[in-house]
Amino acid sequence: MAGVTDPYLREQLEKRRRELKTALSLTPTDERAATAVSFVDLLHKVDQAVERMDEGTYGICENCQGTLEKERLIADPLVQLCLDCLSVEEQRALERDLELASRIQRGLLPQTDLRFRDWRIHYRYKPAGVVSGDYCDLIVPSASDGKLIFLLGDVAGKGVAASLLMTHLHAMFRSLASLGLELDKLLEMANRLFCESTIAGQYATLICGGIGRDGELEIVSAGHNPALLVSKDGVKQIGATGLPLGLFTTSRYTVSRARLDLNESLLLYTDGISEANGVSGSEYGISALSVAAGKRYGWTPQELVAGCLSDVEQHCAGARQADDQTLMAIQRSAAAAASFND
Ligand SMILES: [Zn+2]
Repeated sequence: MAGVTDPYLREQLEKRRRELKTALSLTPTDERAATAVSFVDLLHKVDQAVERMDEGTYGICENCQGTLEKERLIADPLVQLCLDCLSVEEQRALERDLELASRIQRGLLPQTDLRFRDWRIHYRYKPAGVVSGDYCDLIVPSASDGKLIFLLGDVAGKGVAASLLMTHLHAMFRSLASLGLELDKLLEMANRLFCESTIAGQYATLICGGIGRDGELEIVSAGHNPALLVSKDGVKQIGATGLPLGLFTTSRYTVSRARLDLNESLLLYTDGISEANGVSGSEYGISALSVAAGKRYGWTPQELVAGCLSDVEQHCAGARQADDQTLMAIQRSAAAAASFND
């Protein structure tokens, strides 16, 4: 079985080698004896990994000769045993790490029910595994006349590597949102930063929207599944206005605008919902989701999300959830408007 020779991993190993050498040269002499041993040992391991890469045996489990999990190599390029070959204690330690990662990730999520002026927002976040590659955030403005920003995205891939990029998106948008940029500029800047900091071939689709006054909504979509606007006249799709984040540094985005009347909702979802498979392998699909949402026009965001999810579950009929699922409903609520105007 051929070894892994991903240029990114080689670059990571070489970067670690440089950092270790610098750390070693900066260690004060009196501390050097103890620290230097572990640094030199690590340097040796990095050198051996580069050698294995040159020989074409990097990324192969030294016990069973199977292929190492790429996301584990991304997290730690010195890994030499596949998951199946770890000892029970090592597997337990890994599980504890994952549980901690999951807690950290959940801690980054916004509150599941949010009221903002005459709007009500609710979402459900369902990872397929312990951690998720779905990204979901609601950024409430600090100024009273500011816009609320909602974000829903999906990092390509699953598991730990995707969840790391999800936390990266979270930190990036939280910082950029405070600049008060127009949404198209916000996404252009986020895309550039994401391109410069991610591994080649890693990308994310994302919808970023702003809620303004009098039912006004702005939406920018970086290659994400169409948002569904649920009105009494039916369900309308709002499609992508640019390419996924992380593909080209020069990507441009345009803003779509919509105005929601009272009781109308915008439904956002990740492809774990639209591509959910039933036992027979049939895909749920965006049209099925549109029908499920259309039947629930005027329902509260909680009811809309729960109703659509139960429709998806019915379609899947007990099949294992294969991908992370997130569903968010943003409603201009007549009930909220009444209390907001009081
Ligand atoms: Zn193995």
